[in-house]
Amino acid sequence: MDLLVDLLIIWFIVLLYRRWMGMGRPHLRPEQPPAAAGRRVRSAGQMAPCAHCGLYLPRTEAVTGPDGKTYCSREHARARA
Ligand SMILES: [Zn+2]
Repeated sequence: MDLLVDLLIIWFIVLLYRRWMGMGRPHLRPEQPPAAAGRRVRSAGQMAPCAHCGLYLPRTEAVTGPDGKTYCSREHARARA
């Protein structure tokens, strides 16, 4: 009976220790890296070149000129038009 109580106490201490270690180092959680890698690959597929200088930049940061082409900045969109 005493052995069972000892095992329960040890199990509880290990559980608390693991929980405390997990909170201290959240970047070690296994579910985080695959999500970040998937986001990186998806954003790399949305790269677009500037029609003026050829600089590659994310499509979300690109400026669309009056001719419908993508540019790295408003200056380059105006320089082309
Ligand atoms: Zn440019």
